[in-house]
Amino acid sequence: KGIVHRICSGQVILDLSSAVKELVENSLDAAATSIEISLKDFGEEWFQVTDNGCGISPNSFKVLALKHHTSKLSEFHDLQSLTTFGFRGEALSSLCALGDLTIETRTVNEPVATHLTFNHSGVLVAEKKTARQIGTTVTVKKLFSSLPVRSKEFKRNIRKEYGKLVSLLNAYALIAKGVRFGCTNTTGKNVKSVVLKTQGNDSLKDNVITVLGMNTFNCLEPMALCISESCKVEGFLSKPGLGNGRNLGDRQYFFINGRPVDMPKIGKLVNELYRSANSKQYPIAILNFTVPTKAYDVNVTPDKRKIFFSEETSLLQALREGLQQIYSPDNA
Ligand code: ADP
Ligand code: MG
Repeated sequence: KGIVHRICSGQVILDLSSAVKELVENSLDAAATSIEISLKDFGEEWFQVTDNGCGISPNSFKVLALKHHTSKLSEFHDLQSLTTFGFRGEALSSLCALGDLTIETRTVNEPVATHLTFNHSGVLVAEKKTARQIGTTVTVKKLFSSLPVRSKEFKRNIRKEYGKLVSLLNAYALIAKGVRFGCTNTTGKNVKSVVLKTQGNDSLKDNVITVLGMNTFNCLEPMALCISESCKVEGFLSKPGLGNGRNLGDRQYFFINGRPVDMPKIGKLVNELYRSANSKQYPIAILNFTVPTKAYDVNVTPDKRKIFFSEETSLLQALREGLQQIYSPDNA
């Protein structure tokens, strides 16, 4: 049973960025307005996510990290109109199976916080009182140590995994309104570097300026397109000729209803239109698609990054026409 659980968990948590993503999404689901991510040695030694969200109530301490425990889905029909990020109750149980998980948490109803230690099966094995503000801190040490092959691979690719994580955190910092994000990495001899720091702005524009910088912002222009009655896309794109994405996919952020997703076909389309009309550069793109929740399915892959669009072809076509307007040579 243990081995099967470990292997399945390795499909929910594929790498460093999918592990941290689950924790960040839990913090967002807990209505946090401040989310701090700390890494030791690029996440190889440990990583930690601290939030000021609602905290976890003592009556769920025991079941918290058991497989399929979730507080977010009460009935099956909820799946159709999902607004929270998590809903399958797999993240904490998977993280337990793959590394050493501890949680510190406190709700508004508790005078003190509790420190919780879980074993690899997600069973709560120790509980002690501690001091902290309302909110939750989840720490994962030695990710993948229970899967030796994956662990070796993880350590070998740690810089790449870290790069992917930083870009994912940028994506959340861009799209989340009113949430402060911070990320620090501490290496070897306690050298701490700030990877990301935002103030929790209320608009995408201000988030673009803080996350990507003023110079980059000045090369961008806002765009908004109505694709159909219920579907629109809004965001920022490189001005014609001013692209400064270094290569394919660099600094391209796509979101569906505020959720960061991989959209390779859309990335390809944006690149193709931009490059054929204007330049040899790659465009920076920050695009948020607002679509009815029933038009897509996030359950295609366990890590929920890939999505299935029921009307992808018509969406791509509408986007193509809209971008051609923006990027046609007559407009440049
Ligand atoms: P899911 O998010 O799919 O419900 P998880 O395994 O990610 O499953 O989390 C299990 C449960 O633990 C959540 O439903 C939530 O009740 C609680 N939880 C996890 N992280 C936090 C957090 N940062 N703040 C408050 N509650 C949390
Ligand atoms: Mg979750």
